Amino acid sequence: MDFALTPALTELRERACRYTQDVLQPLEAQFERDHGVLPRALGNELRKAAIAVNLHGGSLPKAVGGQGWSVMEQVIVHEQLGQVTGGLWSYVPGAYNVLIHCDPVQRERYLDPSIRGERNGSYAITERDAGSDARTMAASAVPDQATGEYVLNGEKWFVTGPDDTDFMIFHANVVHGDERLPTLFLVDYDTPGLRMSHDPDYMHTFADRHPQFVLEDVRVPATAILGGIGQADQLTNDWFVEERIHIGARCSGAMERLLTLAVEWATSRVQFGERIYDFQGVSFPLADSAADAAAARLLTRECAWLADSGADPKVVHARASIAKLFASEAAFRCADRVVQVFGGRGYMRENPAERFFRELRVDRIWEGTSEIQRLIVARALEKRGVGRVVGEA
Ligand SMILES: Cc1cc2nc3c(=O)[nH]c(=O)nc-3n(C[C@H](O)[C@H](O)[C@H](O)COP(=O)(O)OP(=O)(O)OC[C@H]3O[C@@H](n4cnc5c(N)ncnc54)[C@H](O)[C@@H]3O)c2cc1C
Repeated sequence: MDFALTPALTELRERACRYTQDVLQPLEAQFERDHGVLPRALGNELRKAAIAVNLHGGSLPKAVGGQGWSVMEQVIVHEQLGQVTGGLWSYVPGAYNVLIHCDPVQRERYLDPSIRGERNGSYAITERDAGSDARTMAASAVPDQATGEYVLNGEKWFVTGPDDTDFMIFHANVVHGDERLPTLFLVDYDTPGLRMSHDPDYMHTFADRHPQFVLEDVRVPATAILGGIGQADQLTNDWFVEERIHIGARCSGAMERLLTLAVEWATSRVQFGERIYDFQGVSFPLADSAADAAAARLLTRECAWLADSGADPKVVHARASIAKLFASEAAFRCADRVVQVFGGRGYMRENPAERFFRELRVDRIWEGTSEIQRLIVARALEKRGVGRVVGEA
């Protein structure tokens, strides 16, 4: 087993590191002071800067204009992007992986401009009464036999995207007699009947907003269907697996930055005539955080390696849940400890540790809560066998 990065991976990591440290990190303190508002022109500059160094569309195949990265390459990049606060990494142009199922017309309209950083889409699954249990989703798509259109109705919550997002991937059930067929629709925000009903603030100060939308008798043509009728559950699952691995990687990166800042501070801060780092009450929590960070990184990279080596997708699914569960819980523990090590300075919003403490909290909730990851892992232990879930896949 070889854990060394190849020269190509090392170069990619360095490129992502330079973008994160030189382009994004210098903006984060002002971004926090401005309550998460970045002038649109500056946001577009960030997108162009990412494109200039070929960091855009990383997980998308080359055939559709992406970088065609392996899962390991995606992980190496997200480990770097996770080292910026404010979710500023979301300025790297890209698209939800389900958009690779676009037909040529959809591609020209949604996927191509997303990769070029000219359009942004959101993915609307969650509803007021359907969160962890997506089976209770009420959003519907009723075919109108006369026109061939679909009539969409529903209310979607936490619909994430930057403030210039202008289309959504709407997850609804096509009503076909007694059947309910989960299906994705591409819907432009300016389609009549679609409106933003509420745009709440959240714990974090983030580049993305998470508004609520209501769709009332929204008419779309059959060509708005993405990936075929009845395909939504599988397509959304593919998205969850990819994003859970990315979350594992970003949490690993966040821990690395937190630890770097904490060690720098604790080895220079003197109290009671000694460096606070020489008090075990300070250094031991950092040692525990180092164990957390290293374990999270290994779990995530191993999951990426399994995905790239063609392991059983069901096992990869479970391993992605393990990586996301461990890394997100560990990153939050780590942020809490680092805030403590900084003392009063750790409570200041200008300190990245304070911002990470608020921002990492959501990684235990979105893309499936920690409890849902445990459910997935527990089911896999029974169905796939302990050995494949924790050992050789
Ligand atoms: C900032 C943010 C951005 C988001 N972005 C998006 C987005 O872009 N698109 C989108 O569709 N959704 C998005 N979400 C929604 C997110 O995926 C859901 O919040 C999440 O899946 C949990 O659903 P819920 O909030 O309805 O909580 P619920 O499902 O109501 O859960 C409440 C609590 O009960 C627990 N629970 C539920 N069922 C079980 C069980 N069987 N066993 C044990 N515990 C259980 C949960 O773990 C949780 O602790 C976002 C959420 C946030 C906060």
